[in-house]
Amino acid sequence: MAHFQELAKQQKTVEGALALSAMPRLHEALQALGVTDAAALDGIQVHYRLQGLPSRYFGEVSLPMLALSLQTTLPLVCQRCFEPMPESLEMTFEFALCDEPPEALLEDETVDWLESTDESSLEVLVEDELLMALPISVMHEEACTQLQQSAGEKPNPFAVLKQLKLDK
Ligand SMILES: [Zn+2]
Repeated sequence: MAHFQELAKQQKTVEGALALSAMPRLHEALQALGVTDAAALDGIQVHYRLQGLPSRYFGEVSLPMLALSLQTTLPLVCQRCFEPMPESLEMTFEFALCDEPPEALLEDETVDWLESTDESSLEVLVEDELLMALPISVMHEEACTQLQQSAGEKPNPFAVLKQLKLDK
């Protein structure tokens, strides 16, 4: 969908909002975290802004650059008492486009990289970043106000999440 290379070269910006239906892996990850309220899941909107930046030098190589900003609120729930614990996320990432990242780029922890031939869609890029930002478990820090004991064993959400991240 987004032509990253072109966007970077022309320093254009695309922005909009994605619903959860565009991000099936994120949907599964949220369910693994115990978010099962269909209305809450349907209500998720991820606002994105993908912007071409001026090329930047990494060592002696000048590379096209992109910045991705994301803003959303995820309807997380406490895994102990099941009370809502909505999580607001606001994040910005910078990417260099290249096929073989130069050493100076790999050493730069503030800039990620994308293969310039990558056919990935914007949806996949956004979804990857959100999966990365998801907490491993969600729970009130102190004791929950209304502690309800849940019966039986639940699947370990961390194991499920790890699998989802590997599946991409
Ligand atoms: Zn709680």
